[in-house]
Amino acid sequence: MSVSLQDYQEIVGPGVIEELRILADRVKGRRMQHINSTPVGGGVAEILTRMVPLFRELGLDVSWDVIKGDQAFFNVTKAFHNALHGKAETMTEDMFAIFRSNTEMNLREVNFSGDVIFIHDPQPAGLILRKKEIGRGWVWRCHIDVSTPQPDVWNFLRPYVEQYDAAIFSMPDFAQQLPIAQYRVAPSIDPLSDKNKPLNKVDIEKVLEKYHIDPGRPVVTQISRFDRLKDPLGVIAAYRMVKKRNRCQLVLAGGGAPDDPEGEQVLREVQEAAAGDPDIHVLLLAPFSDLEINALVRGSVVLIQKSIREGFGLTVSEALWKRKPVIGSAVGGIKLQVIDGETGFLVHSVEGAANRISQLLRDRRLRERLGQNGYEHVRQNFLVTRHLKDYLLTVLALEHPGESIVYLN
Ligand code: UDP
Repeated sequence: MSVSLQDYQEIVGPGVIEELRILADRVKGRRMQHINSTPVGGGVAEILTRMVPLFRELGLDVSWDVIKGDQAFFNVTKAFHNALHGKAETMTEDMFAIFRSNTEMNLREVNFSGDVIFIHDPQPAGLILRKKEIGRGWVWRCHIDVSTPQPDVWNFLRPYVEQYDAAIFSMPDFAQQLPIAQYRVAPSIDPLSDKNKPLNKVDIEKVLEKYHIDPGRPVVTQISRFDRLKDPLGVIAAYRMVKKRNRCQLVLAGGGAPDDPEGEQVLREVQEAAAGDPDIHVLLLAPFSDLEINALVRGSVVLIQKSIREGFGLTVSEALWKRKPVIGSAVGGIKLQVIDGETGFLVHSVEGAANRISQLLRDRRLRERLGQNGYEHVRQNFLVTRHLKDYLLTVLALEHPGESIVYLN
């Protein structure tokens, strides 16, 4: 069943939808183009999939294009991704050359149709080289925690970034010393998507059954790509500590993304670490397993996001929206979503995670309180309607460079 903007009114109130229509009217006539590196897998694709149709429903001309890249290019950009998050990576001149030549190829291939072009993350950042020739407004939308980037990678990327008209980061901690405007826009989830809409008990249990998860014993879950920065091995270590004194099962569910070549190797490491314990369910999900992810989260009592670094972590909002408490590492955008002691717990170690899991497994009322707060926190801050508004405001702000207040009338 297709969803329309009107359907969000019940969740966010009529004022929010009305405001979006007014802003969209101001923006009409400017084509918006989004460019990223994968149509599926990971948070950016997740967001664009939901936002683009809603923009169109607002009467706006919005397109979404995906750059091309081979395995060598995505190996390099995954290393960039890790290094920008502050994880040590060895970079070579060859790797920078691969980035440059793939960028050259995409500069020829991509059809630049937008009046405002949003380039998401480092992979397509080099497309800015066409700016002089085609003009228009260019925004680098960075979804990564670049607060402590590895200097060689940031120094390589910076000359591209500096050519944009503006950069968007997910939180103030990620802002950089740049000669361009910087905006803060947090990501969002769509409450009416298959991944987040309400499900009935029978459908939830069907999914648990499919994966041989016992609905009669508490389930602790982390949903994430199999990526070392998501620390799946740390989650298993915490679970093993919890398991000594509590009945529970662990679910680690994730799929791959075409722009993440490390997934298979990390999955193997996780499977090895989980071997021998039938209560650890390592699930490799197909793309578009949204209803299953929804059911796995709803079928869990506690969600974990034990990332070592995190840009935002949509999975956290996805869980909070389902009134589940989240135990998250105190990194990046997780800190925006997990308010310690209010919507979940922030942790700094395997032991810390294990303690909080045990506490929550034993205290249903605490789980319910945190879950209810989490739902409200997401409703107020991290729904797609707020995100649409922020992007519309960004388009308007670009037309008023240097002004800190833009008057709409
Ligand atoms: N996701 C998914 N399938 C998977 C694993 C993750 O659809 O197998 C989704 C997840 O529900 C979330 C997004 O992918 O919507 C991941 O976004 P997040 O910001 O948490 O992390 P990223 O992968 O972008 O680092």
